Amino acid sequence: MTTLDINTTALKHNTKLITELAGKATVIAVLKGNAYGLGLCEFAAFLKQQGIHHFAVTDLADALTLRKNHITGDILMLTPLYDEGDILSAISHDITLSITSYECGIAADAAAAQFADANVRAHLCIDTGFGRYGFLSSEPSQIIHTVNQMNHIKITGIFSHLHAACCKDSSFTRCQFDEFLALCDNLENSGINVGMRHISSTTALIRFPDMRLDAVRIGSAFLGRIAIPNKYTFIPIGALSAQVDDIYSLPAGHNVGYGHSFITSRTTTTAVVSAGYYHGLGLERHTSPSRPNFLPFNIVRAIKKYTSHQQITAFYKETPLSILGQIGMNSVIVDITDCGVSVGDKISFQINPLYVNSNIPRHYY
Ligand SMILES: *Cc1c(COP(=O)(O)O)cnc(C)c1O
Repeated sequence: MTTLDINTTALKHNTKLITELAGKATVIAVLKGNAYGLGLCEFAAFLKQQGIHHFAVTDLADALTLRKNHITGDILMLTPLYDEGDILSAISHDITLSITSYECGIAADAAAAQFADANVRAHLCIDTGFGRYGFLSSEPSQIIHTVNQMNHIKITGIFSHLHAACCKDSSFTRCQFDEFLALCDNLENSGINVGMRHISSTTALIRFPDMRLDAVRIGSAFLGRIAIPNKYTFIPIGALSAQVDDIYSLPAGHNVGYGHSFITSRTTTTAVVSAGYYHGLGLERHTSPSRPNFLPFNIVRAIKKYTSHQQITAFYKETPLSILGQIGMNSVIVDITDCGVSVGDKISFQINPLYVNSNIPRHYY
């Protein structure tokens, strides 16, 4: 069976680094995208054991799944809900809403009014420059008006999202942060208690310590996959583990795989391993964090890396093995000429869990 193996020792190490960096700020674990591939409920349960009780999701279905699986604690919807049924469902499962506009606030309030004594909570979502969700930070009167119309919901937080925290030029981020703080002050001066303020995710957590405020929203740091160079010892999480289906001895000059992309140069012992792009192998995007990835240089480099499998290495125990030819949908061929591998042995590939098909079982060890 092909599995995604998750090393809990490494994951605990990353979690500890995050909580240390966060200091007094609450760590909100962002669990979007099947918890970045770590498995929504498995990862939430793991985090609870590590003392993390604040979660955020982008999909209501994920929030409900967490509750069905007895994940207690705070769950924040990072995206707006407009549908009455959805809002009622969120409230009855004690999910914290995000209010992104006047209409969103009014819809949430109308739904909350249907609950006699529920403690309905929401965070205000602010657009300080991302251009995605939220009230424009330049229009505080719109926010004040909305909050004043909401009589059945308690505002327990306010947040915004940075769009350039990994860019060399930090001026965009400084601007967004200043804009956010000024807005929070403005709202407080207008008698609105904004509650918990949060704007930083992984990159800002590492790069801008002064921006941690009351909470930080963290996703990729748990996986130890960080877009900027840093001095911390995050450990990359994720290994696809698959068995050797069959072994062959191919003569020199023999083709291996689709597209005539690899010809043996010597007598080669090959192992066919049951992992392919269906499982996520070879799908990872390798982009340079600080440079736009549309530059011709980066495209050429990406193609070179892809065709040469420079980024992907197969391992048998600790021994690296070369991948031969193109990766297939359900199989990949590796060179085991110099390594004693048998049918049924496990071969592993370092992989970002985000790219691993969510049907593949997650194995925490
Ligand atoms: C994805 C996301 C995060 C987490 O980002 P990382 O860089 O993975 O830590 C935080 N906040 C919002 C709104 C997000 O969409």
